[in-house]
Amino acid sequence: MGTVLITGANRGIGLALCRLFKGRGDTVIAVCRNTSPELAALGVEIVDGIDGRSDEAVAQLGRRVADRRLDILVLNAGILGDDGIGKFDPALDLDSVREQFEVNALAPLRVARQLVPALANGAKIALMTSRMGSIADNGSGGSYGYRMSKAALNAMGMSLARDLKSRGIAVAILHPGYVRTDMTGGSGNVDPADAARMLIERIDGLNLENTGTFWHANGEQLPW
Ligand code: NAP
Repeated sequence: MGTVLITGANRGIGLALCRLFKGRGDTVIAVCRNTSPELAALGVEIVDGIDGRSDEAVAQLGRRVADRRLDILVLNAGILGDDGIGKFDPALDLDSVREQFEVNALAPLRVARQLVPALANGAKIALMTSRMGSIADNGSGGSYGYRMSKAALNAMGMSLARDLKSRGIAVAILHPGYVRTDMTGGSGNVDPADAARMLIERIDGLNLENTGTFWHANGEQLPW
């Protein structure tokens, strides 16, 4: 049992992770912009008002946990913009691409910058990426902002894995599956609770030998 901090904790996969970690006895710090009745009902510690795009808000989060020792950091918050799937549209909205970079790639780095000092030696970091960030696995094109921002997140994960190994900190780069959440409009082939259970199995199996690996929650290793 340890202390787990999860971003994007108010709904979807983040909420399901909070519920499962709490259920097995971990101390959960649930970070979000706005809490939700479902999160409040879990009885975990909630840190709200934290928008990952804000230096100031994330610095506030850093100050809040500065005297804690975190065992697991799950950088889960993310967005999927509407860039079109499987087509190149010359009217592509670059503001949407930029926003996805901001939330999916820069925000996790901003949070890591503040929270890595609070990680215990031997702690674990899990990045919630997507197989859509895999260049090798891109068989359908489109989704420029999402694919590019998640590929950038994957690159960050590998650098963190290399840089933090000497502190005994391992990093998992995780695709949760196609999960029925708001992000997918409720489509998908796995419920958040099942995705969360598999993600926790991956985090439990994370170590300094397999740090920096890109996994599907089901245990399959994904290509870059
Ligand atoms: P979701 O239900 O839409 O939840 C997204 C979470 O991210 C929410 O808690 C949301 O908070 C938070 N968030 C968004 N923008 C934020 C910001 N600027 N600052 C702080 N928090 C922000 O999506 P989900 O399906 O649970 O997705 C969780 C992660 O899994 C994402 O990184 C996503 O890319 C990844 N993923 C999901 C799927 C899938 O099939 N669902 C597949 C691959 C990868 P608010 O409520 O405040 O917006």
